[in-house]
Amino acid sequence: MAHLFDELSLFLPCYNEEANLESTVNKTLPILIKTASKWELIIVNDGSKDKTGEVALRLQTKYPQNIKIVTHPLNRGYGASFKSGFYTAKYDWISFIDADGQFDFKDINKLLDVQKESQADLVIGYYLGRKVPLVRIWGSKLWQLAVFILFGLKVRDIDCGFKLVRKKVIDTIPRLVAERGPFISSEFLIKAKKAGFKIAECGVFHYPRTAGEATGAKLSVILAGFKDLLRLWLKLNFPS
Ligand code: UDP
Ligand code: MG
Repeated sequence: MAHLFDELSLFLPCYNEEANLESTVNKTLPILIKTASKWELIIVNDGSKDKTGEVALRLQTKYPQNIKIVTHPLNRGYGASFKSGFYTAKYDWISFIDADGQFDFKDINKLLDVQKESQADLVIGYYLGRKVPLVRIWGSKLWQLAVFILFGLKVRDIDCGFKLVRKKVIDTIPRLVAERGPFISSEFLIKAKKAGFKIAECGVFHYPRTAGEATGAKLSVILAGFKDLLRLWLKLNFPS
């Protein structure tokens, strides 16, 4: 079978994912290898305090040429993992999924179909049934309303952690800033849209987290997100 991509980089943000990383990689690798003739897998270890680093090193021995590990000495937040993944990736197409197993990488086929049809530069996932408490779904809706009001960006699920992006996008837009908190995905899409890149959307399945701890709904994380949101709004509207 012909490969669907000539080149594809995939990165996995990880913070304390010792119980999930291996199974996520073992499920994902065969799909990645089948999908792309040239591929790389980047494991971003965001200052994990558990054995994530050891698990990553063990996984790397399977494909030392193709698996890279980026380690942050201290935990910096999802945004930092996102940036390290993007700024390390070398291939023309870049995708990412969470390391906790909440996505199934086989949905990449659907994202690619949408890309072919739309010729979009970014194909961003939206949840087909998000497996989180209702309060988080409402929280996301409020957050998206704020992003729409302040930046005019409207998509179904800004923060969905499964996207497919042309490398040219990350090479063109201004350097990303957000570290902790959920703002990075909004910042990325706001900057990509402003630069004129085409965005298409695609439904992806979502599964409950079966091990480890989610940090996306912590109050400190959400507040950090709002701080970043206001900072970018001020910067775009009052550049001096
Ligand atoms: N993550 C990270 N740094 C952090 C927090 C999370 O790299 O400081 C990773 C985490 O390991 C996971 C992904 O980002 O693979 C999404 O995090 P999480 O599952 O906590 O968020 P949620 O799914 O609850 O939104
Ligand atoms: Mg998760």
